[in-house]
Amino acid sequence: MKCIRCHQDIEFTTIFDRSDAYWPYHNWIAFGCPFCKSDNYVLLEEKTLPKRLIIPGENSTAPSAGVISIGYLDAFPEPTFVSVETMEVAGLVLNGDEEKVEIRLGSRRWVIKAKKRQSP
Ligand SMILES: [Zn+2]
Repeated sequence: MKCIRCHQDIEFTTIFDRSDAYWPYHNWIAFGCPFCKSDNYVLLEEKTLPKRLIIPGENSTAPSAGVISIGYLDAFPEPTFVSVETMEVAGLVLNGDEEKVEIRLGSRRWVIKAKKRQSP
C-alpha cells in the first residue's frame, strides 16, 4: 500500500508493526509512515470466503480474507474514513473488541490497543 502523503510503498507487516491506535466499532487503526512520518489511517474489514471453497478434512475453520483500505479521516461533520486505496489480503484474520484488535497474518500476530477516550 502507498502512503497517502509521500506515496512510498509500505508492507502490511510494517503497517501493523507501526500501528499504535485502534478505534473500536469503526475498525480504524493509525500508523506513522516510516518514510515521511505522517499519520495514515487504515480501515480493516474481514471478508469470509464462500463456504463452497472449504475443502472437507483440510480446514476446520473457514478461510478468510481481509480487506485493508488506506486513507484519511475527514473530521466534518463527524469523523469519517475516506479511502484512497483498497486491497484484499488473503489469510488476514481480525478479532476486535472494545479494548483492542488482534490481527493475524500468516505466522505473525499483532495486538493494537484501543485509543483511550479523551478526558473531558
Ligand atoms: Zn509517507
